[in-house]
Amino acid sequence: MDTRNKGFNTKLVHAGIKDDALGSVVTPIYQTSTFAFRDAQQGANRFAGKEGGYIYTRIGNPTTDALEENVAQLENGFGATAMASGMGAISTVYLALLSSGDHVVSTDSVYGPSRGLMEKHMSRFGVESTYVDTSDLDNLRRAIRANTKLVYVESPSNPAMAVTDLAAAAEIAHAAGALLVVDNTFASPHLQKPLDLGADVSLHSVTKFINGHADVVGGIVVAKTEALHKKIRAMLIILGANMDPHQSYMVSRGLKTLALRVERAEENARQVAPWLEAHPQVAWVRYIGLPSHPQHELAKRQMTGFGSMISFELKGGLEAGRIVMDNVHLAGLAVSLGGVETLISHPASMTHAGMARADRLAAGITDGLVRLSVGIEDLADILADLEQALERVGPAAANPRS
Ligand SMILES: *Cc1c(COP(=O)(O)O)cnc(C)c1O
Repeated sequence: MDTRNKGFNTKLVHAGIKDDALGSVVTPIYQTSTFAFRDAQQGANRFAGKEGGYIYTRIGNPTTDALEENVAQLENGFGATAMASGMGAISTVYLALLSSGDHVVSTDSVYGPSRGLMEKHMSRFGVESTYVDTSDLDNLRRAIRANTKLVYVESPSNPAMAVTDLAAAAEIAHAAGALLVVDNTFASPHLQKPLDLGADVSLHSVTKFINGHADVVGGIVVAKTEALHKKIRAMLIILGANMDPHQSYMVSRGLKTLALRVERAEENARQVAPWLEAHPQVAWVRYIGLPSHPQHELAKRQMTGFGSMISFELKGGLEAGRIVMDNVHLAGLAVSLGGVETLISHPASMTHAGMARADRLAAGITDGLVRLSVGIEDLADILADLEQALERVGPAAANPRS
């Protein structure tokens, strides 16, 4: 079925399915490393690109193709390339689009390893980078240089939940002769379509919302044009960060319910966020669906929903964070996000505990910062779990740090 002119939910369920000889309703797992040619000529034709068909799973596999075709249609791109992980996707994009002497401008609160790879490693190959708060477009304009080739934006970003105006960022990048790449992981294709807003490339850690079941690590890159898609795909084939067929099957399975999961989790988050904002132990809440969020109106304009990621600051700081972490029962104490289960993390006592406090604060990781990925469980259970954990912190007024 040609799903290109169908609705988003129809695409989720049907796009990209490879019909096999037996009429399988879903694309089977083609668990094979290689594909035999009928004869020498067919092998020659396939390598020369004169004939379609598969050669070797690092180069292409039907199960992975099915996922790629689906996500490319969801985000209205020319094509998509699936990778072993989100970082596999990001490293492939950097290497495909940047050369020695080029300069990159990126969101300062971008996913840590995306910045680490750029600053620690791409720098070794002569790529320069500048990190600014891209939610203020003047910062982006000022950071552009004559050799800027890439503007790399994460929106909403983590954990600040800062939103960047993607259409404006695309204009600024293009006026400077640069490409706009968007890490769309936090929004998912259901809530934001960066290519429609002017971006050239959109990428995801499919580990999060796209797979949605906390059982696969993976990545995907969607390119707007054939030329960009070919460039990224060629780099992936050489780098070898490809997604394997079993992984692709799992992700395709999870993806079918993306809209249902994202909408259900958002329904919960829309109740949890104001509840937290009114809680005496909570200093502030960052949720793009709250009118108190500095880019709430922008998020309303460029996204079709607010999602389920919430950051909040505990008045009691580091110790309060530890107490809440040690007392939640339903919420899982884990990094990652975007799954059906509610996950909670306190960077200051967990992921960023080894960092000097001043560096941590400079990166926006305050002592009481908690990140919540709201799941699809019953709202009453999520609230009851948070309530009893927050109660352990004690009355806010008695806390000297409040
Ligand atoms: C998790 C994440 C990544 C990295 O993805 P992996 O699948 O863990 O390699 C990149 N960007 C964002 C925004 C993420 O949340």
